[in-house]
Amino acid sequence: MTMGVQKSDPIIIVGGGAFGLSTALHLTRSGFTNISVYEKDDHIPPRYSAANDLNKIVRAEYEDPFYTDLTIKAIAEWKTPLFAPFFHQTGFLHCVSGDASQKAIDTLARFRASAEKNAQIKPHVVPLDNVNDVRQACWQLDGPLTGWNGYLNRFDGYAHSGNALAAVYRAAQAAGVRFYLGEHGAVDEVVYVSTLQGRKSSGIRTKDGKFHPSSLVIVAAGGAVGRLVPELGKKVVAKSWSVAHVQLTDEETSALRGIPITYARDLGFLFEPDPKTNLLKICPMGGGFINTDPKTGISHAPDTLEESAFVPDHDEKQMRKLLAHTLPALANRPLVKRSLCWFADTDDSDFIIDYVPGTSDSVVVLSGDSGHGFKMFPIFGSWVSDFLEHSRQRNAQWRWKQTDPNAEKGNWGGDVSWRLGESLELKDIRPKVVSKL
Ligand SMILES: Cc1cc2nc3c(=O)[nH]c(=O)nc-3n(C[C@H](O)[C@H](O)[C@H](O)COP(=O)(O)OP(=O)(O)OC[C@H]3O[C@@H](n4cnc5c(N)ncnc54)[C@H](O)[C@@H]3O)c2cc1C
Repeated sequence: MTMGVQKSDPIIIVGGGAFGLSTALHLTRSGFTNISVYEKDDHIPPRYSAANDLNKIVRAEYEDPFYTDLTIKAIAEWKTPLFAPFFHQTGFLHCVSGDASQKAIDTLARFRASAEKNAQIKPHVVPLDNVNDVRQACWQLDGPLTGWNGYLNRFDGYAHSGNALAAVYRAAQAAGVRFYLGEHGAVDEVVYVSTLQGRKSSGIRTKDGKFHPSSLVIVAAGGAVGRLVPELGKKVVAKSWSVAHVQLTDEETSALRGIPITYARDLGFLFEPDPKTNLLKICPMGGGFINTDPKTGISHAPDTLEESAFVPDHDEKQMRKLLAHTLPALANRPLVKRSLCWFADTDDSDFIIDYVPGTSDSVVVLSGDSGHGFKMFPIFGSWVSDFLEHSRQRNAQWRWKQTDPNAEKGNWGGDVSWRLGESLELKDIRPKVVSKL
């Protein structure tokens, strides 16, 4: 261990979502003994967490082999006793429809090449060259599937993210981590003092006015990170995608048991229904929605859940189109539990695991999940533990990048290779409120 934080030093983690909980667990495994997690919701899984959800895709093939290798490690860990109850290796049916743009087709081709290039993944890849192949791979998809082609990767699956958060919360508690939830856990600010060496954090202040001292503050606040670490500026954009569900019967859920994650890059994706709630989740993807503060030009996740409790019309149409292609009996059903789900986006989709500059190594930020971080849940915290052991980020991709590549822009909707469409502003997609007067 270098000069950094000592194993018995008080460490505060802000945020009890995916990155915060994984970090708490792994720090206890590495011998850190004085860890407190502060979470603004009064229970875990927190409703504000992007991972408070029925399921997230755990797919190993990335355009960047760096993340492919990490996901292979994560999947091995998903199969260990703590995580296995939440991992379902249903396979990932990854296609484009006949209407797809060239960008979608090219992206699919890069994902496929990544899967086929990897010796561990390749044996699990089944080509789907036409609609018949798709039906062979999944007989339940009884819609027209017009023009669908791509591949099925049986190496991949999904994780029940909300339940996985709850399990790691219990495991971290059992390992001695203290949790402060609700009004005692909502963090107002990181508190700084001036020292001869420069500015340094002395702890945090919670919304109830209390000061909590610590040697190190680790901020893992998801889409709300900008409020606590304004130094990020436009390096991170709070962004959201739509999520909605179809309520099925027991019989319908049973009939769809075991279907792969079904993803047309141009239409979005859906999952095997959840057997407990009979909900089938759909996500239309796209360029996402941002919530830019006109004064600062910085996008923040809204403070209340109500502001995100809808999906825009365009996304609803897109979700119905996906159903019409795949499971047409469901295409006109009500879409329930609609919401926008907020994450922290970087321009290169890389995570950030590093000290905040100008804090004398007293504040670490875990951010930039870029909408693909949950699959790493079983191992994410080991990277933080490794970082603290070395007191520096040895992996250039996860450093606090000094240049602000899009200082003038900070949106990068359609620029991201694996997404289609531009980012829109939340204020422009809000449902029109009908006056009750
Ligand atoms: C629609 C959608 C689909 C996704 N699909 C996938 C997928 O298929 N596969 C995948 O791997 N990933 C997926 N993701 C990404 C995944 O959900 C995130 O990468 C992951 O949840 C990020 O974890 P986090 O801890 O950074 O943020 P979160 O999980 O959002 O947690 C942040 C936590 O910080 C808390 N917090 C915020 N501010 C404060 C404060 N001031 N005080 C105290 N607590 C605070 C919040 O309440 C929250 O609990 C998806 C994301 C979205 C939005």
